[in-house]
Amino acid sequence: MLAFVSDVRGLGELDRDDQVLILRRTFADAGWEAPRVLAALEDAPLYFDAVGQVRLDRWSAGRTVLLGDAAWATGPFGTGTSLALVGAHVLAGELGTQADVPTALARYEEIVRPSAQRAQDEVKPLAIRAMNPRSTAGVKLQRAVLGVAAPVSGKLGGLVGRLTRPPADRFALPEYPAA
Ligand SMILES: Cc1cc2nc3c(=O)[nH]c(=O)nc-3n(C[C@H](O)[C@H](O)[C@H](O)COP(=O)(O)OP(=O)(O)OC[C@H]3O[C@@H](n4cnc5c(N)ncnc54)[C@H](O)[C@@H]3O)c2cc1C
Repeated sequence: MLAFVSDVRGLGELDRDDQVLILRRTFADAGWEAPRVLAALEDAPLYFDAVGQVRLDRWSAGRTVLLGDAAWATGPFGTGTSLALVGAHVLAGELGTQADVPTALARYEEIVRPSAQRAQDEVKPLAIRAMNPRSTAGVKLQRAVLGVAAPVSGKLGGLVGRLTRPPADRFALPEYPAA
């Protein structure tokens, strides 16, 4: 995966050759395995898009309901899969236990929305910039911070895990009777 921060929107709408050209220019001096990866772009299948979030005022209208990324995409930051499964569990559980569909859909949103919101809010622009440094100094700083954090996280394993656990992992799953 090649990721970079850009202030320009709409790059995902360019044709394949232009997207490959942008990747080649952006990562031309990245070193390490970059030349091999860029060379392979010539005839490799390519998926190129902007990272974004989906924020909707409500997740259902009538009997139509959204779930997972379609309702609350957080971006590829380690919460989307868990939250989609949590949402599916709650949606099925509420549909199976409430008296009618509108009540079930309202309850589903009431239960899942706080976690989805928290997962979205925890994606900070500063963290995204730190993950995608734009200068040599930025790369050095990132490596220095990771060099300190990695061994500490090994030693303090459980504690660091608890502090950095994504919001989806902190969700207390409601129990529903088997259908
Ligand atoms: C590069 C990247 C890295 C990621 N890394 C992580 C990670 O490390 N951890 C994590 O938790 N999440 C990660 N995510 C996010 C995660 O992949 C999504 O949040 C998750 O897949 C959402 O599940 P979903 O079922 O809502 O949507 P999707 O997985 O997108 O499923 C939707 C499905 O609907 C199909 N579809 C679309 N339109 C139609 C149609 N008209 N008819 C029929 N089918 C249709 C699509 O083909 C797709 O299979 C990452 C995402 C990306 C892009």
